[in-house]
Amino acid sequence: MSNERTLSIIKPNATKDNNIGNIIARFEKEGLRIAAAKLTKLSKEKAEGFYIEHKERPFFNSLVNFMTSDLVVLMVLEGENAITRNREIMGATNPAEAAEGTLRKLYASGIEENAVHGSDSASSAEREISYFFEKNEIYDRF
Ligand code: ATP
Ligand code: MG
Repeated sequence: MSNERTLSIIKPNATKDNNIGNIIARFEKEGLRIAAAKLTKLSKEKAEGFYIEHKERPFFNSLVNFMTSDLVVLMVLEGENAITRNREIMGATNPAEAAEGTLRKLYASGIEENAVHGSDSASSAEREISYFFEKNEIYDRF
């Protein structure tokens, strides 16, 4: 077991639906700790850069429009196996395939408007955290 940090985003459909508190409460209940947090609206450039790995996918422009359509909450979550734990708590990308009780089952409205993002590996966590946060904005919550 190792203490890890991962990037979490509460996406625009979930902030619009007033589910910020429900989602954060779930992370804390599961033992993940918030090491950094920002409520913000992404620019087109920032959202495009974040999802650069999906640039050639047919849904890329639609995804960028969605991610810039309203406020997001950017967070660094910290805890034991935080990267994998967060992905488990989120559930499958498509809410139709997400397990009962997962955040996407509870709060997504479709495969694109799927409520939350979570880094999928240690290398993406490192890139994504530094994409949104300066080192001095992240606190140790061990
Ligand atoms: P995320 O990276 O947001 O945590 P993920 O890793 O589960 O999600 P990815 O394959 O990285 O899924 O896709 C990134 C995001 O693009 C998805 O979360 C979703 O919002 C959107 N997306 C993925 N597939 C589709 C699709 N077929 N149609 C529309 N949007 C999609
Ligand atoms: Mg992904």
